Amino acid sequence: MNFIETRGNEAGFDTEVAFSYALLNPSASFGGLYIPKTLPKLEAEFIANNHDLSYKDLAYKILKMFEIDIKDEVLQEALALYDRFDNVADTTPVVKIAEDLFVNELYHGPTRAFKDMALQPFGHILSDLAKKSGKKYLILAATSGDTGPATLDTFANKENIQVVCLYPDGGTSDVQRLQMVTEEGKNLKVIGIHGNFDDAQSALKTLLASNTFKEELQKNHISLSAANSVNFGRIILQIVYHIKSYFSLLNQGEIKEGEKIYITVPSGNFGNALGAYYAKKMGLPIAKILIASNANNVLTDLILKGKYDIRDRKLILTNSPAMDILKSSNVERVLFDKFGAQRTKDFMSSLNKENHYELTKTELEALQEDFDAVFCDDAYGQEIIKKYADNGYIMDPHTATCLKADETLKTEDLKNVICSTAEWTKFAPTMLNALNKDDKKYSDLEALESISKALNIEITPSVSVLFDKKVLHDKIVEKESIEEEILKFINQ
Ligand SMILES: *Cc1c(COP(=O)(O)O)cnc(C)c1O
Repeated sequence: MNFIETRGNEAGFDTEVAFSYALLNPSASFGGLYIPKTLPKLEAEFIANNHDLSYKDLAYKILKMFEIDIKDEVLQEALALYDRFDNVADTTPVVKIAEDLFVNELYHGPTRAFKDMALQPFGHILSDLAKKSGKKYLILAATSGDTGPATLDTFANKENIQVVCLYPDGGTSDVQRLQMVTEEGKNLKVIGIHGNFDDAQSALKTLLASNTFKEELQKNHISLSAANSVNFGRIILQIVYHIKSYFSLLNQGEIKEGEKIYITVPSGNFGNALGAYYAKKMGLPIAKILIASNANNVLTDLILKGKYDIRDRKLILTNSPAMDILKSSNVERVLFDKFGAQRTKDFMSSLNKENHYELTKTELEALQEDFDAVFCDDAYGQEIIKKYADNGYIMDPHTATCLKADETLKTEDLKNVICSTAEWTKFAPTMLNALNKDDKKYSDLEALESISKALNIEITPSVSVLFDKKVLHDKIVEKESIEEEILKFINQ
């Protein structure tokens, strides 16, 4: 199956490209994104016949339905990386935490956030393509804390790939920062920047579009690619776990075939939510996708009022930093799907030039057929963490934003599956504040140890060892110096 572009076609770009091309060259015409030309259908028969497959076998079947140009053997090797997760027999446990309420635990991979769900196999597929093409690729990743570690982990020491990872200094937890700055691999470079995640992401987008930068790279025979969720290679892998969660409910006897469910997603760049949207379009019985935001509630305004407006907004640093985003890249793919390329191009250029765009009433209604939204502030999130911990279930601050959606948005008496995007160990100081109902400044290490003792739970070994590892990347620079730093790394 081929891929087309969200903002229409520009001279010099092919009107359709193969999956492998979109992976290696994620930036499409006019700065747009690639999307599949059509979506495969999940027939009732598919659900009936495949609900007891293992995670990786299900992933394989679904990827095959997209008819992508990746060899079977490579796909199998890539999906075998799910064996690195905690439990091979249950890669993404779906846990019941209350009546009609379930958590899809997506964080059991090597870096303890759901980014591993896509980035583990994605890294293998991309490295293989790079190696076979005989070209060298530079992967630029901007991270608010979880993409960075997952990208570095998947690409460490891979041939023909170099990775530069930009993170906002002070915008991540100690665990997240240590996961990045202690990562070994000669092909990796981690740079902290003075600024927030949006600054890091805009710097990345500017570089991806910069011809002078590309020319510098070409001198070194290096092409650019991206591992952020602008890359469809990540999105395709994020469709699978939503389908898997439905199958888990079937297998647990919680729902009957065809019964609708809600899926609730704590959203930032909207990659996770987009995966759910595609699953719904493919035919998974989803009543609605509930979008949880934090105080940076741009998505809430879009879905409730049809207005994407960041003119008077400043990014707020919250307890759920992976959702501290104002420009949410993957919304574009939904706009394209509903309103077409011309309209999407207009929306995006309005957003880039004037920092806002607005849907018509009919367009808003079309969006609301699939989505509803609410935001959750830090104080409420903290209460939720405490309430569930007291009942024996530990959820991280991102996951906690979903409970407000469960409490306020359901209009039908259906089961709700909340996506849990990170393990508590990545945000231990916030967790301890919630449990102790205080706002003291704890270090990650003391918070981890204190929670571990109080709740009698183990600190995940891959997290506790971080504190004894050597820091290998200590650069923190101004935004203006990023390009120079990257070129230094490439030319070394
Ligand atoms: C990345 C991330 C999110 C946001 O996911 P998107 O796909 O960008 O919307 C939410 N929670 C955590 C813990 C994350 O790492």
